[in-house]
Amino acid sequence: MARKRSPGGTRIRPQFWERYPLEELSTAEWEALCDGCGKCCLNKLEDEETGEVALTRVACRLFDDETCRCSQYDIRKQIVPECVVLKPEDLETVSYWLPLTCAYKLIHEGQPLYPWHPLLSGRAESVHEAGVSAQNITVPEFEVDEEEWEDHIIEEPN
Ligand code: SF4
Ligand code: SF4
Repeated sequence: MARKRSPGGTRIRPQFWERYPLEELSTAEWEALCDGCGKCCLNKLEDEETGEVALTRVACRLFDDETCRCSQYDIRKQIVPECVVLKPEDLETVSYWLPLTCAYKLIHEGQPLYPWHPLLSGRAESVHEAGVSAQNITVPEFEVDEEEWEDHIIEEPN
């Protein structure tokens, strides 16, 4: 999963996440809203009957566990075609599988950001220090058979 969108713009307005709808954010604001937790790059299991989504620690093959970032962000769609590009207009349909702490999901649902969000703490590391990121907790998907993903389910927010 990723988080790019098209409209452009480099401005970042004060408290933009509280003052403007997601559709009106500049590209820079949209990018800044990502807390860098990396949990959207973890594989999920969805119960076909209940629709319940469980997060696993089995990470996408391009996920860098140390930086919590995509290792091939610019060409990721060529390598992982199923990587979802997150856009404001799609949140209604995709937010159900986003992590509970995802900033896009929170704002979309009218919830405030957590104090550890880098926009509030002023530090990118605060998301890791709060224990809510995927840093150093993952196993690569090429090392775990899909039938065994269930053994790697993690409880959010960790
Ligand atoms: S889950 Fe949301 S906030 Fe966290 S890295 Fe993914 S898009 Fe960013
Ligand atoms: S390709 Fe994988 S690691 Fe990269 S953004 Fe998409 S889900 Fe995350």
